[in-house]
Amino acid sequence: LIERGQSDDHIVTTCAYCGVGCSLVAEVKGTQVVNMFPNKNGDANHGHACVKGRFAWGYATHPDRLTKPMIREKITDPWQEATWEQAIEFAATKFKAIQAKYGQNSIGGLVSSRCTNEEDYLVQKLVRAAFGNNNVDTCARVCHSPTGYGLSATFGTSAGTQTFDSVQDADVIMLIGVNPTDGHPVVGSQIKRRLREGAGLIVVDPREINMVNSAHIHADYHLKLRPGTNVAMANALAHVIVSEGLYDENFINERCDPKEFQTWKNFILEPRNSPEEMQEITGVPADQVRGAARLFAAAPNGTIYYGLGVTEHSQGSTMVIAIANLAMATGNIGRTGVGVNPLRGQNNVQGSCDLGAFPHELPGYRHVSNADARAVFDAAWGVTLQNEPGLRIPNMFEAAFEGTFKGLYCQGEDIAQSDPNTQHVEAALRQVECIVVQDLFLNETAKFAHVLLPGASFLEKDGTFTNAERRISRVRKVAPPLGGYGDWEATMMLANAMGYPMHYDHPSQIMDEIAELTPTFKGVSYAKLDEMGSIQWPCNDDAPEGTPTMHIDGFVRGKGHFMNTEYVATDEKVTRRFPLILTTGRILSQYNVGAQTRRTKNSIWHPEDILELHPHDAEERGIVDGDWVGIQSRAGETVLHAKVSTRMQPGVVYTTFHHPFSGANVITTDNSDWATNCPEYKVTAVQVVKVAQP
Ligand code: SF4
Repeated sequence: LIERGQSDDHIVTTCAYCGVGCSLVAEVKGTQVVNMFPNKNGDANHGHACVKGRFAWGYATHPDRLTKPMIREKITDPWQEATWEQAIEFAATKFKAIQAKYGQNSIGGLVSSRCTNEEDYLVQKLVRAAFGNNNVDTCARVCHSPTGYGLSATFGTSAGTQTFDSVQDADVIMLIGVNPTDGHPVVGSQIKRRLREGAGLIVVDPREINMVNSAHIHADYHLKLRPGTNVAMANALAHVIVSEGLYDENFINERCDPKEFQTWKNFILEPRNSPEEMQEITGVPADQVRGAARLFAAAPNGTIYYGLGVTEHSQGSTMVIAIANLAMATGNIGRTGVGVNPLRGQNNVQGSCDLGAFPHELPGYRHVSNADARAVFDAAWGVTLQNEPGLRIPNMFEAAFEGTFKGLYCQGEDIAQSDPNTQHVEAALRQVECIVVQDLFLNETAKFAHVLLPGASFLEKDGTFTNAERRISRVRKVAPPLGGYGDWEATMMLANAMGYPMHYDHPSQIMDEIAELTPTFKGVSYAKLDEMGSIQWPCNDDAPEGTPTMHIDGFVRGKGHFMNTEYVATDEKVTRRFPLILTTGRILSQYNVGAQTRRTKNSIWHPEDILELHPHDAEERGIVDGDWVGIQSRAGETVLHAKVSTRMQPGVVYTTFHHPFSGANVITTDNSDWATNCPEYKVTAVQVVKVAQP
């Protein structure tokens, strides 16, 4: 079985779930997928897949799929079936009327990190060229936007530095706020293999994740910190490394700005950053922090993996910077076995960020204020782009309340379920005069929509996804779109109806345009992807075969940039009324809000979200396994079954967020990262009480 020359009944494509981006083979009979198995030639997964990917085709033919466009004047009206032409015309007429009444910046668009690169590129082009503003954002806003900020600031580019295979050369692995065996299972297996071979393991997590203690694997250090204290922990680790002279002086002198290092060194050596001082804040004994820092610094190759337990905090961006500081200080950048590896939650988080789906950045991470970059797109698209950043998702909600944001095109993203403080989001959506939702299913946001367009599943379109190691892989059409059109075609129709001519015959032409306008993608084409199987960007004249390891001879920005990372406590404080901290995470069998996995064979596993709490907190409240418990925060309340678990620490409770009826986001607050507005999902002060069956 090879990627090139696809057979009729076995088609190689890419998993549509997590950021590992496993290559899968769809076995097809007629236009039906009858089986799906991992591609042994897959560059990211080498013949492995998890229980999500193996059953991933199930939701594509689920009876809940939307197959017909629908329209309505008011959200209280019943839906009316419409043709595609009618629905697109209805949306365009409303958007144009809104702009005529409220101004050019009164509408915007959201892209999904589950759509393809080509689709994400096209939506941001629609917003910038047809809507004439920069009001485009991606669901990466609520997960890895701090990665973009932190890694760009320190290294010069917003991307993981390594291949997944690189872990096989690691001597010590540090996992910070990430649970790979559940969230990124195939990478989790690779990490476990290396650990079984003897690599050291440091886990920084408020909860005992599976890797702390599992078959033949025992973490050398589990720094079980209090939620919200990541930056304090990173500073304490750095303090030990610097104060004990364990840093890599040669690397710093050659690769980093020595003046900036000195400034950072002075900061990190301040006594308040020592493990002893930070113990009060993190709750982790100083000797454990010292031991972990020494282990990491002494490793010939030390590598760091992190996830949403880093980014989804009020100091998410600060913590990404702190991780970059740790890697630079120990010289762990620029070769295999080391590096900084953000494990992206969704399959195409990397791609949606790469391709300009942020209100401040054009494709290829070029700021909208950059006149030279704008000139490239002005010339290619025949427009004059705005030079001010547009609205981020939370700003769109605020503008909706202020009456200045009135129209939204939302492709493949369910903001009413996935964004924090559901009540606030829903109230904002009620203020919007025209919402166009394009999705596979009637999602929660659709309740506030005026136009519904059927989305196409990953089996019904051609395109590419970019995984967490910058690997661009093909998505191949296995069956025709159930709703008649691919998502990229709907975007094109809407652009044309808005009066901006847009025409492509195939997604490969969109990729050709991306390559022409984006230096890091210059060497990417469908022909090359067919030939190579996958390509890691940057792929251009300097790296025609792509770039597995970044920053080998120098950082993308030139010299590595050390930055001070002052710890600032979150505003979300425990009180007598809300004495516990709720944090959230994922489970192996379900994916994100569950819209897809709940409609596959995976639905038999983890049919509900459960609240885990420490025996001490359970006993205090008279709670035993299986009891119903009410969880209240200052944002809202919900009810879940309880599970008493020593994986938790006293004072901290935990749940997953895979089921809409669990309402995890009813209780999360609208605190967010200071730099990017990424919501602070991981820290919510709550009370938990035993309740009768709801
Ligand atoms: Fe691979 Fe992630 Fe899909 Fe599992 S969910 S098969 S690990 S891409």
